[in-house]
Amino acid sequence: MITISTKINPESISQAAKIIREGGLVAFPTETVYGLGANALDSEAVRKIYEAKGRPSDNPLILHVSSFEQASELVYMNNVAEKLIAKFWPGPLTLVLPAKEIVPLSTRGGLETAAIRMPDNPVAQALIKASGVPIAAPSANISGRPSPTDFESVYNDMNGRVNMILDGGKVDVGIESTVIDVTNPEKILMLRPGGMPRELIENVLDAKLYFPDETSKKRSPGTRYKHYAPNIPVVIWRKSKNFPEINNAAYMGVHDVDCNCAGKIIFPDINSYAHGLFAGFREFEAKNFACIIVEWPEGDSGVSEGLRDRISRAAGEK
Ligand code: AMP
Ligand code: MG
Repeated sequence: MITISTKINPESISQAAKIIREGGLVAFPTETVYGLGANALDSEAVRKIYEAKGRPSDNPLILHVSSFEQASELVYMNNVAEKLIAKFWPGPLTLVLPAKEIVPLSTRGGLETAAIRMPDNPVAQALIKASGVPIAAPSANISGRPSPTDFESVYNDMNGRVNMILDGGKVDVGIESTVIDVTNPEKILMLRPGGMPRELIENVLDAKLYFPDETSKKRSPGTRYKHYAPNIPVVIWRKSKNFPEINNAAYMGVHDVDCNCAGKIIFPDINSYAHGLFAGFREFEAKNFACIIVEWPEGDSGVSEGLRDRISRAAGEK
């Protein structure tokens, strides 16, 4: 397959929308990471997403919408969902709700629920509007690899596998959306921490989010698989512990360390760490370092919970 890579302008958006309508694949920027999009209502187009990524077909996709009305056509809303949508959309918060018939089983991994989100990115919104359909879009990387946060990373993984890549430069957040299950308004489940901090959600609801039990975990199959990993080992370092002595290792974190590291990225704060994590993984693996030592992010505020999730999965600790 020939992949068209293009800068963003009105012509490339309408060309991309045409590809989506005709059942093809378009990689596009969102505020979290780059997405690999197809018409969410077209089973055959959705099948191509799984094929291009090598993604297990029971791992459901998030449907991206450009309006509340469009979301209401896909799922049965409730008061909690409406409240969260009013507060946080567009933004990095994905809601799992009972699916309407119109959502093909392949898009929702055979589940009775569907995951919906409105991305806070003008390119993503323009593409969804121009396509006239909801766009199913997992991250635009080969399954298991670090998510792409810039055009080059998408190109490296997806050239020849998709019809078009829209080059929107670097994304804003750098890790994926927070996914919560609001099917039962009395017991809202945190399925995946991410770009929307838990504390903001809990403040709006004036309630705590629950951790899913084993049954609910089965309902969110994506959380089972190995994820986000570069092709060299990721080693976690906690600041209270001795720094590991490993030859030809690279390091990244918010605290500088006195080490013989072959590569180093020091981030000014936790948001920059989340923003640069996956790009750092890709940069260090390209340099063939022995491993990547990552600082374990402490604290409960902001994206630290999401960042810890990505780091522990990349290191194979879950
Ligand atoms: P990704 O597309 O890789 O960002 O992953 C999407 C995440 O949303 C995965 O963890 C999925 O398991 C989860 N997800 C998508 N749809 C559903 C659903 N209907 N129920 C529960 N989790 C879902
Ligand atoms: Mg992904």
